[in-house]
Amino acid sequence: MTDTRVTTAVPTASVSAPLLSARKVRKSFGGVEVLKGISLEVAAGQVMCLLGPSGSGKSTFLRCINHLERIDGGRISVDGELIGYAARHGRIFEMNRREVAKQRGGIGMVFQRFNLFPHMTALENITAAPIGVRGLAKPAALARGRELLDRVGLADLAQSYPAQLSGGQQQRVAIARALAMDPKLLLFDEPTSALDPELVGDVLDVMRALAADGMTMVVVTHEIGFARGAADEVVFMDGGVVVESGPPASVLDHPQNPRTKAFLDSVM
Ligand code: ADP
Ligand code: MG
Repeated sequence: MTDTRVTTAVPTASVSAPLLSARKVRKSFGGVEVLKGISLEVAAGQVMCLLGPSGSGKSTFLRCINHLERIDGGRISVDGELIGYAARHGRIFEMNRREVAKQRGGIGMVFQRFNLFPHMTALENITAAPIGVRGLAKPAALARGRELLDRVGLADLAQSYPAQLSGGQQQRVAIARALAMDPKLLLFDEPTSALDPELVGDVLDVMRALAADGMTMVVVTHEIGFARGAADEVVFMDGGVVVESGPPASVLDHPQNPRTKAFLDSVM
């Protein structure tokens, strides 16, 4: 017989578990609560687009998933593992640095600003973490890096430095760099907001291809067209709470909440 006490005490991955699960997540800065109990789930292979006005807590939420901020309440789990906490001897402890680094390795993040290392080529940017953090052999890392550059349409620019690339090309290198760690989950924080309009399309195309390949993604974006075409679910956040969520066709075209409607009117 199964001992259910053990399985409820320590969350474990199962087929039906969502890849990302957030439960009543709270986060304050200096006494101001900016996440007021965020609960949402993303199943494996699904794309969630997170919309909301500036200051609503979207970036903070993504940063909490990726260990860049610590939550004050609730819990987040990715692939059945609690973020920041590990089970040892049947009890839950805060993760040590090595455990945090390992968990972060499985969660890729692409920022608004490309954050590439300026003194490294595109290929070196992509291979740095697989070699340095994961200990992959250099030839294998280079081969994989070239494959990923090809996947984001930049096979010819492996030896270019970030300053020689357009913003859109840099962002595609940043996506390839995130993919190089074989993440279970990819987080995007307004990946096209800093780009000139003519460069946005190539980046969105790469993201659409990733989505079609089954990558699990949470995308903070104001690109309503992308959300409509690529998202399985759209979540509208305002003031640190989830105001409305559902399939893109309902949230984007038939918003129920006046705040969602006002926001969509402002960006569409
Ligand atoms: P969004 O990404 O939706 O624009 P953010 O998550 O960046 O919103 O910010 C939500 C709120 O939290 C804002 O009021 C912002 O000023 C505040 N905030 C974010 N990061 C910090 C921080 N490190 N220290 C203090 N306040 C912060
Ligand atoms: Mg933000």
